[in-house]
Amino acid sequence: MKFRHFAAALLSAVLLTGCGEPAQDQSDALFAADLFAMDTYMNLKAYGKNAEAAVREAEARITALEHTLSVTDSGSDLYALNHAAGGAVTVSDDTRNILDTAAKIGQESGGALCISLYPVLRAWGFTTGEYHVPADSTLAELLPLCDDSLIVRNGNTVTLPPETEIDLGAVAKGYTGDAVMEIYQQHGVTSGIISLGGNVQALGTKPDGSAWTVGVTDPFAPEQLLGTIAVTEKAVITSGNYERYFTGDDGQRYWHILDPETGKPAGNGLVSVTVIGDCGAECDALSTALFVEGTEEAVAHWRRTGGFEMILVTADGEVLLTDGIASGFQPKRDVQSRVIGHDEAG
Ligand code: AMP
Ligand code: MG
Repeated sequence: MKFRHFAAALLSAVLLTGCGEPAQDQSDALFAADLFAMDTYMNLKAYGKNAEAAVREAEARITALEHTLSVTDSGSDLYALNHAAGGAVTVSDDTRNILDTAAKIGQESGGALCISLYPVLRAWGFTTGEYHVPADSTLAELLPLCDDSLIVRNGNTVTLPPETEIDLGAVAKGYTGDAVMEIYQQHGVTSGIISLGGNVQALGTKPDGSAWTVGVTDPFAPEQLLGTIAVTEKAVITSGNYERYFTGDDGQRYWHILDPETGKPAGNGLVSVTVIGDCGAECDALSTALFVEGTEEAVAHWRRTGGFEMILVTADGEVLLTDGIASGFQPKRDVQSRVIGHDEAG
């Protein structure tokens, strides 16, 4: 079985900040760090006199969150939850916050975001990289365990049915982005940008006061950009079918975002979804949920709840931009694009 795994997801968005330039002014001094955490490459940049302290503390926070949120680390909250055999587990505030966000977006998306899909992800080998297509009978057996309404939350106390297991891969990096922004702010940093495996989060503007330019990967050619967007103080988070996938013996591509209704890779018309908003955790949860929902449902979801902007790329190559981001999008190749407005006619 052939497979390709863009483990780094490094290409899913590219920072185009000109941050490599030496800073001219001490007050604009750049401090940057690269790290590998949460199974992905991360890059942190901050400007100003407290930049180094902020980035160093952010690195430590990321490492700590990785331990808390890992499904494999036997000391993690997630490990405790998944091995509690039906018992109640007291989780950290971080885990509680992520579970709250997952529950909110899970509800708003009619269950498209389903963090209890872990047993099905494992059946596909997405948890280990030993990929294979599971039998329909295996999926039929596992799917009844995957239902986020079975997760009982009471403050920091969480209870799962004995065989239900959860994974926060769809939300964890976005939440981590929020945590880094908070640390930057605590250190008085007003300008910074981070890429957590291609998920970008920006604090303020560039030191010169202009907007950040963030690349959006072309899902049909992931080493290239579809376009760029200009953002200030926003998270820009993408879910795409090119980020982690394998090719089956039947020549079909099977990717890592699963439709909870079928237990199979979600194929509801979209190949990538980029969500732009204020809260990284919500944008991350939404990018996965909207990908699963598919083109029409995603547009209906946005019209219903608002609170974010999005760029959808359909399987037939069309680019749909919500009206709040459309003017900030600069295509990098010929694209057939359409602006989505708040009313049906838009
Ligand atoms: P993202 O890249 O944020 O879209 O997250 C994808 C990851 O979320 C996958 O690698 C799985 O770990 C997990 N996942 C896949 N499908 C779903 C789903 N429908 N709901 C929640 N998590 C999912
Ligand atoms: Mg996500």
